Amino acid sequence: MAKPPSLDAFAPLPTRTVPAADRLAALESLRAEIGDCTRCPLAYAGRKTIVFGDGDSNARLMFVGEGPGADEDASGLPFVGKAGQLLNNMIAAMGLKREEVYIANIVKCRPPGNRTPEFIEATTCSQFLVRQIDIVHPEVIVALGATAATYLLGVKQSLASLRGQWHSVRGAKVAVTYHPAFLLRDPRQKAEAWKDLQRVMAEMHLVAPKRP
Ligand code: URA
Repeated sequence: MAKPPSLDAFAPLPTRTVPAADRLAALESLRAEIGDCTRCPLAYAGRKTIVFGDGDSNARLMFVGEGPGADEDASGLPFVGKAGQLLNNMIAAMGLKREEVYIANIVKCRPPGNRTPEFIEATTCSQFLVRQIDIVHPEVIVALGATAATYLLGVKQSLASLRGQWHSVRGAKVAVTYHPAFLLRDPRQKAEAWKDLQRVMAEMHLVAPKRP
């Protein structure tokens, strides 16, 4: 695979942020602009619903996954299947509610058979993710898995080499961790993912809830 461009290379960084009160409307207008998208092959690969993104338009924290699976394609919402339940638990462990963060994916349409998005699909869809990030203007973005890290940062490196350090995209700090679907397959890595999330919490001054 050719090295993808970083999301910083897609468009100049905005000189001004969208005022907090206008962000929801800006996201709605972006969704309307996407329309019934046919810009990449995923439009013709059995997608039912475009999964735009979900959450607080003023979120301090954004999660970016790979692309919708069957549950997301059916519901139109990101991370609602089994991996989504684990992501919800990860968010709760950070002392946040799902409604307080913003969740999006590298591609907004389900790749057939849940395969990894192709370069052309990811880079075509990235123009809209860039604008979502610019509107929400999160302090921190968590890249969930290698595909999210690759296309957000424009690097083709192992997850291991990207974890444990801060990256930057569109003015936000970026942390890289394991995708929840991978953690479901290999739960022993949950402790490592928790270390990544604790670094994010320290950066954002978030406090983990006390265990009952
Ligand atoms: N996996 C992803 O990467 N994104 C989703 O929305 C659901 C599962």
